[in-house]
Amino acid sequence: MRKPDLRSMSEEELIFAVKEMGEPQFRSKQIFDWLHNKNVKSFDEMTNLSKKLREKLNENYKISNIEIVEKRVSQKDGTAKYLFSLEDDRLIEAVLMKYSYGNAVCVSTQVGCRMGCSFCASTIDGVERNLSAGEMLSEVYEIQNDIGERVSSIVLMGSGEPLDNYENVIKFIRLINDEKGLGIGQRHITLSTCGIIDKMQMLMEENLQITLAVSLHAPNDEIRNEIMPVSRKYDFDSLMLACKEYSDKTKRRITFEYAMIKGVNDSSECAGQLARRLRNMLCHVNLIPVNDVEERNFYKSSEQTILNFAEILNSKGIETTIRRKLGSDINAACGQLRKGYRASRR
Ligand code: SAH
Repeated sequence: MRKPDLRSMSEEELIFAVKEMGEPQFRSKQIFDWLHNKNVKSFDEMTNLSKKLREKLNENYKISNIEIVEKRVSQKDGTAKYLFSLEDDRLIEAVLMKYSYGNAVCVSTQVGCRMGCSFCASTIDGVERNLSAGEMLSEVYEIQNDIGERVSSIVLMGSGEPLDNYENVIKFIRLINDEKGLGIGQRHITLSTCGIIDKMQMLMEENLQITLAVSLHAPNDEIRNEIMPVSRKYDFDSLMLACKEYSDKTKRRITFEYAMIKGVNDSSECAGQLARRLRNMLCHVNLIPVNDVEERNFYKSSEQTILNFAEILNSKGIETTIRRKLGSDINAACGQLRKGYRASRR
């Protein structure tokens, strides 16, 4: 029998588990504290629990742990990329970014990804499995332990499509937001999606104040179909409609991510078309110079092209920023995370 992972449990599930073992409810608070503040790896470390209870926990549950296998630190900006091994020896990556306002972690949500975006390294070998809420939390907890500092914001922008692992990701958000744990404010959490519309509709009903980022990367179906297979299922008009509904319902401004790829989506016409499509949307556009993924033949647009593109959008009233590039010297930038260092290790 596979034992359930205690770190992945919501507060209610934990309370229920404790009750089922015939223990008083305050035990669940103690266990929550061990799992989410003290980040213990085993039940034996939970020293304020009776030996008997620790044995019961060992019999019925597990704590899924992840381990740092390698850490690379950027000489340019202090960004750090962590390679973790999971219990089944699969590998994932997470990135620590140091900003003036605090430490942010870019969290992976799946081992690999099945969305197939043609410019992204995470999707090259498809998806292997979803990460549990506990594994995603451990990415953050392990990095916090390693640096001895608090992590104060989260971007769900590592490997994987968060909305393709919906339930675990929602659990992760609620647990990391919980004041009895790390207590990261919902406004400091960004979920990035390639645009899975039915899940966006579920998300808007969750009553969360997180920021939704939508990877758009094109101003129309023609270009989007070419670089993002998901767009053949959810067309541009439907995506725009879903985004409008999302911001109407949540009153939250949506971030549109747009990777600038030379000769593919970076013309002035594209900028004009995008501005028309985003008119009347509560939003902000973030332009990302695409990062080269050697396996694919995409190159970043020139700096001047990106500035022009931003200028056109801004002049038409669409607030636009250009993303600062962090961690490019350690392959930790957008779209460079992959399932492991397999190639380089061989
Ligand atoms: N699956 C989610 C989140 C993970 S990707 C999504 O698609 O949004 C996080 C962001 O990095 C997305 O906007 C993605 O399109 C972008 N990205 C992927 N490959 C990239 C690359 N080579 N250069 C720049 N951004 C890239």
